[in-house]
Amino acid sequence: LGPTITVGEILVEIMATTVGTGFLEPQSLAGPYPSGAPAIFIDQVARMGGAAAIIAGVGDDDFGRLNVDRLRQDGVDVSAIAIHEDWPTGSAFVRYRPDGARDFVFNIARSAAGQIGLTSAAEALVRRAGHVHVMGTALTIPGAREVILYAVETVQARGGSVSLDPNLRKELLTDDGALDSFNQVLATADLLLPSGEELFTAAGRADEAAAVAKLLESGMGEIVLKRGEQGASFFGRGLPRIDCAAFTVDEVDPTGAGDCFGAAYLTCRRKGMAPDAALLHANAAGARNVTRLGPMEGVSTLAELTTFIVETPRR
Ligand code: ADP
Repeated sequence: LGPTITVGEILVEIMATTVGTGFLEPQSLAGPYPSGAPAIFIDQVARMGGAAAIIAGVGDDDFGRLNVDRLRQDGVDVSAIAIHEDWPTGSAFVRYRPDGARDFVFNIARSAAGQIGLTSAAEALVRRAGHVHVMGTALTIPGAREVILYAVETVQARGGSVSLDPNLRKELLTDDGALDSFNQVLATADLLLPSGEELFTAAGRADEAAAVAKLLESGMGEIVLKRGEQGASFFGRGLPRIDCAAFTVDEVDPTGAGDCFGAAYLTCRRKGMAPDAALLHANAAGARNVTRLGPMEGVSTLAELTTFIVETPRR
C-alpha cells in the first residue's frame, strides 16, 4: 500500500560510560551516536528491507550529517528530513543509575527537531504512505504532533494502518497537548506497543489482564507488550495470547531496544508473517540491539535475525 512512515525527533546521543549519580562532575562520555526513538525505529524497518521514510529535521551540522548519512545508507527515504541552517541538530545526554534506570537531558524544543512541520516533501510522503508509526516522544513536539494527527487521518482514510509506541518520557511531558494527542491516536490505532507501566497508563487500568481487555474491547487490533529481559507478549482481538521468552544476551546498552523491537514486529506483520513469528523476530531485534553501545548500532537485517534466532538460547 505504501511505505511505513514515522514523524519525530532525530537526535545525537551522548552517554555516560559509567553508572553513577549524575552529570554533576566531569566524566567520560561515549558518542555522538545517531539516535531519536523515531529514527531508530525507521532505521530498523529499512534494515529489514521494509519501505521506510521519516518526517524530521536536523541542523546543517555534523550531528545532522551523521544521522542522515546513516539513515540513507540503511535504506531510509530521507527526502522529508528538513535541513535547518538556523537550528542545531537535537541531542540527548543519557546516564544510568545503579538500579538500571536512565535519566535524559534532552535538547529538542530548541533544536531542528523542534521545528518539524508539514513541508511539501512531508505532505507528498504522507499522501503515499501505507502505515504510520507514532512515537509518544514525537507527540511532545507541537509541530510534529500536528503532522502526526494529519498523517494518521490521511493514511487511515486511504486504508492504511497505524501503530503507537507510548514511550512518553517524563522529561518531555511539559504540556497537555502531548497527552491529548496521545489519546486521539490511541483511539484509532491498530497496534499498540507499550512497555511496563505504559500499558496501565494507556488503558487507565492497573491490572494487566483488565488493561488488555479494555483496549481490545475499545477496538485496538493487537497489543504487543514489551517486558525487557522477560521477553514479550502478544494479545489480539479474538486470538489466543502468545508469550515469548527473551533471548539470552549480555546487555551493554538498553536504549533503543523497544524501538527495534517495534520496528521488527511491524515489518514482519506488514510482510505477512503471523503474530507468533513476528513476536519472535521482534524479541530477537530487541535482544541484538542491547548488545551494542549506542541506540542505533544494534539494528538488524532479516538475515541477521534469522541466524540469531537459530543460534541463541532463550531464558
Ligand atoms: P523499551 O525499550 O521500550 O522500554 P524493553 O526494555 O522492554 O522496551 O525492550 C524491548 C524488547 O527488547 C524486550 O521486549 C525484549 O524482547 C528485548 N530486550 C530488552 N532487553 C533485553 C535483555 N536484557 N535481554 C534480552 N532481550 C531484551
